[in-house]
Amino acid sequence: MTAGPVTARALSGKEAAAMLNGQTSALVSRLSPAGTVPRLVIVSATDDASSAWYVRSIIRAAGRLDIECDVRDLGPGADAAAISGALSALSADPAVHGIILQTPLPPGLSAAELALAIDPAKDVDGASPVSLGRLSAGLKAFAPATAQAVLRLLDFHTIELSGRRAVIVGRSTVVGKPLAQLLLARNATVTICHSRTRDLPTVTAQAEVLVAAAGRPALIGAGYVGAGAVVIDVGTNPTSDGGLVGDVDASAVAPIAGALSPVPGGVGPVTTAQLLLNAASAAAAA
Ligand code: NAP
Repeated sequence: MTAGPVTARALSGKEAAAMLNGQTSALVSRLSPAGTVPRLVIVSATDDASSAWYVRSIIRAAGRLDIECDVRDLGPGADAAAISGALSALSADPAVHGIILQTPLPPGLSAAELALAIDPAKDVDGASPVSLGRLSAGLKAFAPATAQAVLRLLDFHTIELSGRRAVIVGRSTVVGKPLAQLLLARNATVTICHSRTRDLPTVTAQAEVLVAAAGRPALIGAGYVGAGAVVIDVGTNPTSDGGLVGDVDASAVAPIAGALSPVPGGVGPVTTAQLLLNAASAAAAA
């Protein structure tokens, strides 16, 4: 009998998402006797089709967990004052437990600047610079759900982080920077790469844990991955046929890596589940 090609263990996100949803359901049930129903509001100022798809998927998932979720649609013409006014009003409303500022925003507006209007206690997707600052200082804060989801996925699949070399490709405030803080807090040795990183494959090939969050289809090919590395693919890049691909060239990397998260079905479902757990936690803490 000949052995088949060695291929990376698939780090599916479905089971990790189900586990988080179980925690959320338990939390929602505990709040129910007091008449508290977690309420999440998504502030949107775009007519972008993929944003609308994402918002619908959050609303559906929230409904399954008995979390109220609605959209404050300000339209693509909204200005900074309208958006920040809506975020401030929701922050002051005791009936609202979680607030999401949906992107993309109208041209010229800064998500980080506007998210300063979100009360950090309701900032369930870690969009505010205050949340990122607190996270960096080791204080209690919501991290962006995607960054948290990467950690959840690694933990669910019992991937050791302490003392290991972690490399993140991408330095956004949504994924790369907060994830670096979360990995540092878990005693990984963290390197962040970006579009100006020289000789990217040499840096990424050093990683024992490699996270791709660049939004570039198939950026991470065979030459970018060390033998046996754990590779987490955060990228979600729409294809012309309506599908979704990650930042990792999975067929080239799978024979080299020790473990690889799929797209779709990896970080994505865990992100949604984490966001809703954050909303339920915010309601429990209110
Ligand atoms: P972003 O704001 O566009 O940031 C992308 C980062 O990647 C930037 O830091 C950029 O470097 C870097 N980069 C781009 N091209 C590169 C290259 N060729 N080599 C090295 N670095 C490169 O994107 P994001 O919001 O962080 O999202 C990243 C990806 O994650 C996207 O595909 C997005 O759709 C996906 N995502 C998935 C989820 C989920 O739930 N699964 C959630 C959020 C985002 P510079 O800073 O130098 O420009």
